[in-house]
Amino acid sequence: MTKKQKKHLTRIITAAVLLAVVWLLLPLEGVWQLLAYCVPYFIVGWDVLWGALRKILHGELLDEEFLMSIATVGAFALGEYREAVAVMLFYQIGEWFQGVAVGKTRRNITQLMDLRPDYANVLREGIEEKVDPEEVEVGETILIRPGEKIPLDGIILDGTTAVNTAALTGESLPQDKGPGDAVVSGTVNLTGVITVRTQSAFGESTAAKILELVENASEQKARVEGFITRLAHWYTPCVVAGAALLAVIPPLLFSQPWSVWVQRALVFLVVSCPCALVVSVPLTFFGGIGGASRCGILIKGAGYMETLAKARTVVFDKTGTLTKGSFTVTHIVPQKGSKDDLLALAAAAESFSRHPIAQSVVAAYGKPVEAEPEDAKDHTGRGIEAVIGGRHIFAGNERLMNEIGVPCAGVNEIGTVIHMAADREYLGYLVIADTPKPDAAEAIRSLKAEGVEKTVMLTGDKAAVAEAVAAELGLDEARAELLPADKVTAVEGLLKTGSPLVFVGDGINDAPVLARADVGVAMGALGSDAAIEAADIVLMDDAPSKLSLAVRLSRRTMRIVRQNVVFALAVKAIVLLMGATGDANMWVAVFADVGVLVLAILNAMRALLVPKK
Ligand code: ADP
Ligand code: MG
Repeated sequence: MTKKQKKHLTRIITAAVLLAVVWLLLPLEGVWQLLAYCVPYFIVGWDVLWGALRKILHGELLDEEFLMSIATVGAFALGEYREAVAVMLFYQIGEWFQGVAVGKTRRNITQLMDLRPDYANVLREGIEEKVDPEEVEVGETILIRPGEKIPLDGIILDGTTAVNTAALTGESLPQDKGPGDAVVSGTVNLTGVITVRTQSAFGESTAAKILELVENASEQKARVEGFITRLAHWYTPCVVAGAALLAVIPPLLFSQPWSVWVQRALVFLVVSCPCALVVSVPLTFFGGIGGASRCGILIKGAGYMETLAKARTVVFDKTGTLTKGSFTVTHIVPQKGSKDDLLALAAAAESFSRHPIAQSVVAAYGKPVEAEPEDAKDHTGRGIEAVIGGRHIFAGNERLMNEIGVPCAGVNEIGTVIHMAADREYLGYLVIADTPKPDAAEAIRSLKAEGVEKTVMLTGDKAAVAEAVAAELGLDEARAELLPADKVTAVEGLLKTGSPLVFVGDGINDAPVLARADVGVAMGALGSDAAIEAADIVLMDDAPSKLSLAVRLSRRTMRIVRQNVVFALAVKAIVLLMGATGDANMWVAVFADVGVLVLAILNAMRALLVPKK
């Protein structure tokens, strides 16, 4: 609670006590009674009255402070002193509660994420200094002890340790790291002392980027929020107009008593403020986004959450998204020469690429590559090309071989085939196999359970491989042998059906597709800035089940939003009806209004809770 909120609460309590004293203990009459009730009234409401006065001077007559002032002054005029004080008191309780809730959710999120490092131990000329992470430059060496948060992204120079990435990924399984491995800011060093060479300044680090992303997420508004704002715009004028008609028409046209109808009109004014709607909707989204980020799911705005909740088509990239992306070499078939030579050449040629295939070939070779590739180039979705020891090497699929005019026989083996050519001469092929991720099938099943109608896999791989994977995982459709541009076309075709479409990829070579989908999700993005920037939703680790969790959390958030909107509108409608017929007095109105606000806020904060696994 801030100082201001504490003062506010003190005023509310003082006024409540005074109201009780005047009401129950002081048997006053006439003017004295009026004056006695004025004391708690002004204590609790002076700022509202003052605000209203200023608004009148600016001509803003539909402001909630103004409406509350009219309602309470009107009640005083009718001799309903207690009601007047109570309305002001409850209005202030609602305001206070709202302030605390909004502050709390905001703080909660950044605190829960617990990413911001407080300091870095930097080694300068052999001397350790404790400095602000912002003061460390790229290429400096920092020392991190067990239990300390890793302040900056970098590469381990010395020492081995286990790292807890829970703050980023929501996964608490420690990862072992040693010299040469990358570590990421915001994670926690668990067991050993390590020295790290920094690779980016703090402002560019993973922790800083993610915090910025979460803090800005509330700026992108969901469609329901726009709807609520428009609703609020006409709700208040309508209710106020209703109040005016109610106060004037029956006495003038039907010679009814003024006091009865003015009193009913005041009930209208009390419920004229759309607070519960206006506050609870963004609060719910903020809570939902915060809850998701605690599970390692970063959602860049309420609108994406809204679309994700409605997702009907989910399109996946294959390699690295549904499959592990770590291939084992199952077969080496040289045209001439030895298997080892072919593998060594493939590893050397692939050693520059970040593609999962390339990294697996290098890993299968197991030794440091002998020759550095020159003029290396990715042929996205087909393979690579590089010059090694003066020879021009191509490695890739049949399509690549056709493009360079090297004849290659069709290979009927299970797995992904990498054909090799040197200076336009065919060298043979490697067959590599990848396996689906352990939770991929389960993720597809639970997406279906959440209302996804169609799951599609897009891949640049051979049709046989695509079909095998699709069958194993229970996907509805697989489209094979696609270049990145074909993937964009495929997604555009699926978008034509008009149902919300989610694309999930690894963010490495599918940025154009990510951008084209209604919601682009990048998976396993920890440490990959490009993927974090290209996607609308970022899954920090690479488990497909995080996607179904994201859909589930989004749907829950939308459910809470709907509950709040329907509940608030229903209660207001009932109170207005009862007010018009004289069945609800100001007590009922103010209880209902503040009650709805408080319940809506509490319900909104439910969105912050993380489901048990
Ligand atoms: P996916 O669509 O499954 O993510 P990509 O579009 O990245 O796959 O690649 C499509 C195909 O291109 C692969 O199946 C492979 O045949 C070939 N390919 C891509 N990158 C490489 C590489 N670095 N080395 C050899 N072949 C590659
Ligand atoms: Mg890919």
